[in-house]
Amino acid sequence: MLISDREHDDFMLMLASGIHEAGHVLAAREFGFNVEWVSLDPDFLRSNPMAIENKCASGFPVTMTITSHLLTPIANRGCVTSRDEWETIRRYYIECHAGPLAEIHFNPHFQIEAGQRDFEQSDGLLWHLMKPDKFRFKRKRAAFIKDAQTFVEQHRNTIFYLGVEIHNRRTLFANEIDAAIAYAKEQAASMKEAA
Ligand SMILES: [Zn+2]
Repeated sequence: MLISDREHDDFMLMLASGIHEAGHVLAAREFGFNVEWVSLDPDFLRSNPMAIENKCASGFPVTMTITSHLLTPIANRGCVTSRDEWETIRRYYIECHAGPLAEIHFNPHFQIEAGQRDFEQSDGLLWHLMKPDKFRFKRKRAAFIKDAQTFVEQHRNTIFYLGVEIHNRRTLFANEIDAAIAYAKEQAASMKEAA
C-alpha cells in the first residue's frame, strides 16, 4: 500500500504528541528514573493533583518523571561535585531533550515551541550549575545534546511504537509503563526482521 506524502505528514502530525512523550518515557526508564504517569488526556492533566502541584496542569501532554529527590540537593548546592552527579545531570538532560528530539525525528511540521519547556528546564539547570563559565557551559551542553540525539537515533523504532501506544491509550500509569516499553521493543524488533 502506498500513501501520499500529505497522508504521511498528517499521520505523523496526529502521532506527534505521543511520540514526543515516548521519547521522555523511554529515556527516563532506560536511565532508571521512575515515571508516575504519562498522559495526553487534557481532562486527566487538568485535574491530577501531581500535575497541579508541579504546575503542569494546563492540559498539554506531560510525562511525570520523578527526579527532584536526585536533582534538588545538587541544585541547592549550586555545583556538581562528583562523576556520579554529572551522570545524573547528563541523564536528566537527555531525558528532557529526548521528547522534542523524538518529535523532530518524525514530525516534519515540528515547531520549536513544542520543546520550549523541555529545553528551558534542562538548560536552566545546567546553567545554574555552571554559571558564570559560558565556555564550559556551551561545551557541556553541546556534548549532552549530542548524547540525546544519539539516544533518540538508537531507539527510534521503539520510540515510534511506544508513541503509538501512548497515542492510543491516552494515559499510562507507573505499573503499565514498563510493559508498554517491552511491547514497543518487540514491535521494533519484528520490524527490523521484516526489513
Ligand atoms: Zn516534552
